[in-house]
Amino acid sequence: MKKKQKKQIKFFGAPAAHVQSWGYKDISNWHENHPSALGEHQSPINITTEEMSEEPIGVFYTHYHDFGTAQVVNNGHAVSWNFLSDAGGVILNDKFYKLISFHHHSPTEHTFNGKHLGLALHFIHMHLETGELLVMGYNLDVDGEELEFQGFLDEIQPEMSQDHVHLENVRLSLIEEFEGRFVHYQGSLTTPPCTQLVKWFVSNHCHRIDQYHLDWFKACIPHHNHREAQPRNERCTKIYEKRTWSKHFKHSWERVKHVE
Ligand SMILES: [Zn+2]
Repeated sequence: MKKKQKKQIKFFGAPAAHVQSWGYKDISNWHENHPSALGEHQSPINITTEEMSEEPIGVFYTHYHDFGTAQVVNNGHAVSWNFLSDAGGVILNDKFYKLISFHHHSPTEHTFNGKHLGLALHFIHMHLETGELLVMGYNLDVDGEELEFQGFLDEIQPEMSQDHVHLENVRLSLIEEFEGRFVHYQGSLTTPPCTQLVKWFVSNHCHRIDQYHLDWFKACIPHHNHREAQPRNERCTKIYEKRTWSKHFKHSWERVKHVE
């Protein structure tokens, strides 16, 4: 790790052609082209300590493959790892949500007692029959508590200056084992079109990221890429436990995956 910190951080870049029809400078105008942005169930939200310390009312299970093949893209809004192979997914209430991609925001979009943390990683899962999304959000900061993400970040950050990079071995087993509590609520995409079909699960924990890895994200997108907390409008949060499927069940994942 120390060796890495001495290296110059290289821009993992977005060519001008990738600049799209919305940006973080005009968030207040998003609704003009994307009316859902004014909806009643928008994301992100602010989460309080009291909510985070509630007892769990449910469980969801992850079952990722050990490795996934992904294309890493800097789209000018975020760096995104888009899976080209079957990477596994999440089971919630007997429904399977397939892992599609993950991307970053800096600082975090969800706030905790009104405060942002350094980095969020959003893992996007989709229920293929309905298009419904389940997003797991991890929070990281340089003064976070534990180092579990370091090995994962070491392996997924390309060091060359290209706009697309093919990664054969995204080692999902490195994050598969993290069990913990997540704050659940019903919300939206946090970027246009801000569609309100997202089951959010936001970690109630702050993982540690070292300055080198955080600076890499900031070099890739050299401006903030977060949306501010949105009104709650009567929505409540509930705590769920994330568990690893293989630790708790011996029977076939494939069988369960097809029970809908
Ligand atoms: Zn996101």
